[in-house]
Amino acid sequence: MIKANDPKLKSWVEVPANSDFSIQNIPFGIFKTDSLGPRAATAIGDKVLDLSVLEVHGCFEGLSLPPETFNKPVLNDFMGLDKEVTRAVRNRISDLLEADNAELRDNSELVKQAFFEQSEVEMCMPVHVPNYTDFYSSEQHAYNVGCMFRDPENALMPNWKHLPVGYHGRASSIVVSGTPFHRPKGQTKADDAAMPSFNPCRLLDFELEMAFITCKENGLGNSISTKEAEDYIFGFVIFNDWSARDMQKWEYVPLGPFLAKNFASHVSPWIVTMDAMEPFRVSGPKQDPKVLPYLEYEGDYHFDLNLQVAIQPEAQEETVVANSNFRYMYWNCLQQLAHHTVNGCNMQIGDMYASGTISGPTPAEYGSMLELSWRGSKPVSMNGGGERKFIQDHDTVIMRGHAERNGVRIGFGEVKAKVLPAK
Ligand code: MN
Repeated sequence: MIKANDPKLKSWVEVPANSDFSIQNIPFGIFKTDSLGPRAATAIGDKVLDLSVLEVHGCFEGLSLPPETFNKPVLNDFMGLDKEVTRAVRNRISDLLEADNAELRDNSELVKQAFFEQSEVEMCMPVHVPNYTDFYSSEQHAYNVGCMFRDPENALMPNWKHLPVGYHGRASSIVVSGTPFHRPKGQTKADDAAMPSFNPCRLLDFELEMAFITCKENGLGNSISTKEAEDYIFGFVIFNDWSARDMQKWEYVPLGPFLAKNFASHVSPWIVTMDAMEPFRVSGPKQDPKVLPYLEYEGDYHFDLNLQVAIQPEAQEETVVANSNFRYMYWNCLQQLAHHTVNGCNMQIGDMYASGTISGPTPAEYGSMLELSWRGSKPVSMNGGGERKFIQDHDTVIMRGHAERNGVRIGFGEVKAKVLPAK
């Protein structure tokens, strides 16, 4: 067992019972305040712990960290260190927060300097993202979309169970939770219209996804096997892959998504490490037909992670519209990475690889409004009155994710975004 994952660990920092940030989590993120520039941190309970301050005070001595590892506006350099080093850092932070360890606990001056209330800091984009890929790896989602746009007999395309389908997305418009954005404008064409029109998107949708982030380069021409893949994955964030369904329908032939997808995607601010997710791994579905040898893998690499989507209309309470789970994937992260690099494509540190919309087997578990409202034919009621087929201006969409086992809960907090009217 990874030391920091021990369910018996308790922290001297107060951790509320339903907190995502238990001592078994120790995620990594970047925060700033009015007076402090962006720097690396972890989260524990309702607090943010400034790692750059701990570093200055010698708390990481002996761990072979380059100077000022945490006094940086992004985590790329830290993530790019050997896994043994980043794992040792997480274990060391866990030690410092452990109930019986007086080293930090009893150093009131350092505690004062290093801890902040989460509610008082601004979370920043945790990494610079050189490249972004979006997969399409939930069978229920692919089936639902196939039913709507083709027919139930041919819902999955012939390639779908043989390779993890994906496309290259846009890295520059990935933003952190809380960043407001405007409804996109673009071309759409109604089925009965002779010509396309230009207008604000009418069918704005979210996509509930998880994304993994790579921390090691394979170099152009080299493949990563499913056996090696774990070493290349630093951790995960929740990923809201906003989609303009009306624009998507008109533009996607024959090369796939473009402007319907690249106007904004929101990520949760804390990267939960692959290590922290380890106790929550579960087996995936039996893959039939049998996959090609380069996509075979050993062990359990699906994750029992509860996911939730809520819509909060302006000045109203939120309504939970979906509860899904990351375990509902057909293809896992090892297979996605092995497939992505099998042709020699080079991965970079900080790249994001989103799962594709994660939909579960029942309608309450669908991960997009397209599916929840079945293309607008089944409006979803809001608790505070009204209904939604898609997302309206001034709506806030909130996604949450947490895992629980053996009395330990870890999670991602929230990714939250408000839709402003088209510019
Ligand atoms: Mn997507």
